[in-house]
Amino acid sequence: MSDKCSKNKDIVYNISQISDELSDEMLEFFRNLVQIESYTGNEGEIAKVIYNKMLELDYDKVWQDKYGNVIGQIGNGSTAIYFDSHMDTVGVNDSSEWILDPFGAEIKDGDVYGRGSADMKSGLVSSMYAGAIMKKLGCVKDKKIYIAATVMEEDLDGVATMELLKSLDTTPKYAIMCEPTCLNIGIGHKGRALTKITVNGKAAHGSRPDLGVNPTYALAEVLQRVQSWGEKLMAKGSENSTVAVTTIESTTDSFNSIPRSAALYIDHRLSVNDNEASLASTMDKLIEDIDAEWEICDFPAKTWTGEQLMLHSMHPAWEIPKEHELSVSALKACKKMGRQKSEAIKLGFSTNAVTTAGRCKIPTIVIGPGDVQYAHMTNEHCPVKDITDACKIYTYMCHLIP
Ligand SMILES: [Zn+2]
Repeated sequence: MSDKCSKNKDIVYNISQISDELSDEMLEFFRNLVQIESYTGNEGEIAKVIYNKMLELDYDKVWQDKYGNVIGQIGNGSTAIYFDSHMDTVGVNDSSEWILDPFGAEIKDGDVYGRGSADMKSGLVSSMYAGAIMKKLGCVKDKKIYIAATVMEEDLDGVATMELLKSLDTTPKYAIMCEPTCLNIGIGHKGRALTKITVNGKAAHGSRPDLGVNPTYALAEVLQRVQSWGEKLMAKGSENSTVAVTTIESTTDSFNSIPRSAALYIDHRLSVNDNEASLASTMDKLIEDIDAEWEICDFPAKTWTGEQLMLHSMHPAWEIPKEHELSVSALKACKKMGRQKSEAIKLGFSTNAVTTAGRCKIPTIVIGPGDVQYAHMTNEHCPVKDITDACKIYTYMCHLIP
């Protein structure tokens, strides 16, 4: 390792210079990744390209776990810092409406267009090159940097990251999600849960309602309780949790039968004051005196390697103080690397931080190139300049973090 980092005043210059030198290469690799379709559950091809690139970038260690996550390691110090970017993207169902090919990775007015450009192949590339630069400059000697490319975030947020974290030999002291924030520092977001309430009935012929028990009438009562509970939460302000009924269904033998059961699904957005116990007590109240059950929904899915993962739809909210050394280091790195407007913000979207911060209580921030307002959208795009800037910020931040 060189000692180019030994003089603190030179480090900003050195990181900047080497990142600028590598910016064409970074852009080329980024365009490559955007050109590879990597929908959730089909990340095999892109995983191979990322694996090979980490080897080419001289990572100290590169491996793939059984779920198909790719992990690269730089350094072997005692403080572990974990970078997380998901490789999967949502689908494209409207390609004729795009102004440029969603898999062309073409550049227009300084932006690269394509599915996954903002969410979040740009952040992935920036973090991969940041790892390479840390190694080149030798500026993280006392640290162990994990750069992870994870699977299935779009459908099962947090799940693949949880499996990956369990397999690391050092528990990270800090985590960084490279999701798009326009290089602002995301210091928290709401949690979420999906619950189902099933009201029991008794099937009968539609012409003989007296012989059955129609569950839809009791469901209407539950529906009203959810509505008034939701209105109470809304009145408390935007920082509070919210609820929304999203689906209603019944199990019936035919259109002329009294249903056996009826159910509704509730999407919960959770505040930092909520947890599984508080959710349970609320759900119990919603079905009080009604012949019904509730559950937190689970969703199984298969990874591209054929392994089963299970999403348990209860993600706690999380936040980190602005004054935390991780937030402070990130903000300082932004300013030093020319992003004067960067600031600490609360996010409106969910990320794999539900696992790092929400479940594992690892101090986490979300910071990445691109604007989340273009994620999942027609004409998704990301500024080329953000990619190099993010690379500089990630590198310098790791140097600054105590
Ligand atoms: Zn994302």
